Amino acid sequence: ESFLNRIELNNKNLNAFLEVYGDEAKQRAKEVDNKIKSGTAGKLAGMVVGIKDLLCYENHHSYAGSKILNTFKSTFSATAVQRLLDEDAIIIGRQNCDEFGMGSTNENSAYGPVLNFQNQSKVAGGSSGGSAVAVQADMCQVSLGTDTGGSIRMPAAFCGVAGLKPTYGKVSRWGLIAYASSFDTIGPMGKFVSDLDLVMEVIAGEDGNDSTLFETARNYTKTQKVAYIKEIVEHSSLQPEIKNAFFDRLEQLKSLGYEVKAVDFPYLEQLLPTYYVLTTAESSSNLSRFDGVKFGHRTQNPHNLIDMYKKTRSEGFGEEVKRRIMLGTFVLSADYFDAYYTKAQKVRRLIKDYTDTILKDCDFIISPTTSSTAYSIGEKTLDPIQMYLGDLFTVQANVTGLPAISIPMGNDDSGMPMGFQIMGKAFDEKQIVALSKELV
Ligand code: GLN
Repeated sequence: ESFLNRIELNNKNLNAFLEVYGDEAKQRAKEVDNKIKSGTAGKLAGMVVGIKDLLCYENHHSYAGSKILNTFKSTFSATAVQRLLDEDAIIIGRQNCDEFGMGSTNENSAYGPVLNFQNQSKVAGGSSGGSAVAVQADMCQVSLGTDTGGSIRMPAAFCGVAGLKPTYGKVSRWGLIAYASSFDTIGPMGKFVSDLDLVMEVIAGEDGNDSTLFETARNYTKTQKVAYIKEIVEHSSLQPEIKNAFFDRLEQLKSLGYEVKAVDFPYLEQLLPTYYVLTTAESSSNLSRFDGVKFGHRTQNPHNLIDMYKKTRSEGFGEEVKRRIMLGTFVLSADYFDAYYTKAQKVRRLIKDYTDTILKDCDFIISPTTSSTAYSIGEKTLDPIQMYLGDLFTVQANVTGLPAISIPMGNDDSGMPMGFQIMGKAFDEKQIVALSKELV
């Protein structure tokens, strides 16, 4: 009830929740309470969770922040959502996001932007903006977001909360409405790293519905070595306060007994082009299923089948989604496939191998999560390239599939939150959590 009251008070302004399951959540809270009393409650008993609008939940709507899915109701629950329910979490509502997860500020939602609770003239970050603000404004304890290029970590940084992007292959993508399948991940956001840890224990692990999952038990030997990338801390876009706060963290790490070392990363300039060529290619393919036949919106009175496809998609998709479908279709077209798509796959491999080399010698690669704090609403919407540049520090984890967390790193002079990112070796979520706990 306390969370529902907070939603009642703040959601109209902030626009973090697109739908609130008030009565249902209260009913479930009663059931869980009885289970607690009888000693049969699950691991997440009473945890109040909000879910991003890209995740399917049986008999509930998922719009993916898009008009094209504005009548869609799922017949099944995403594995991650089902696992929360099985452990007695209470799902309180569906959270606003950029359309199909495509965006960095939540301004690409067909249902309006999400405002930052710290300063309502600023963006929440995206694409899991609703999920971040819901936690920031105490409208739920934990959110389930998704991260394809930074969509958990960037809004977490902009809103001063924690967010964990798991290793690709750790959490089932079954029931996640696909954006770029070889990059997409589902992960938790919250105020406390221990909550993220607990949720990860519940949602991770094998699932027959996602063939890219795998379990690994790596023998972990703590070397206490941490690397940071020179090209990132020297980057011209880095806000001075963020740089200073980051170097303070380096000192803190040293005083905790860590060896901190600067490394080169010669592929910084290649990260965003690689990411945007491959994710647009994958999204143009994934989004071809929204044709007016199977899901959601269908145009009225089309002349024929082709006309129905065209009108449905023209009406249903927003501008950014259309831009990406066109770009992705272009890089996959016969004449340009090798020059762009195949080339980007090769560069992805180089980036992965180089990153793994750094992580052979060190346990973690740390950086600021973003180069600046939250932008003003509308500041970057007219310039997509500027918008894409904001993802510079987060996409490496998705291009390589590695796990990464963003934790709060204080506020800048205007009071806006800054984020600290820790990327680890594959399947080292527990180690990332442990280091985060030492720092907060
Ligand atoms: N901002 C990035 C993009 O627009 C990341 C989105 C995401 O992680 N879903 O693709």
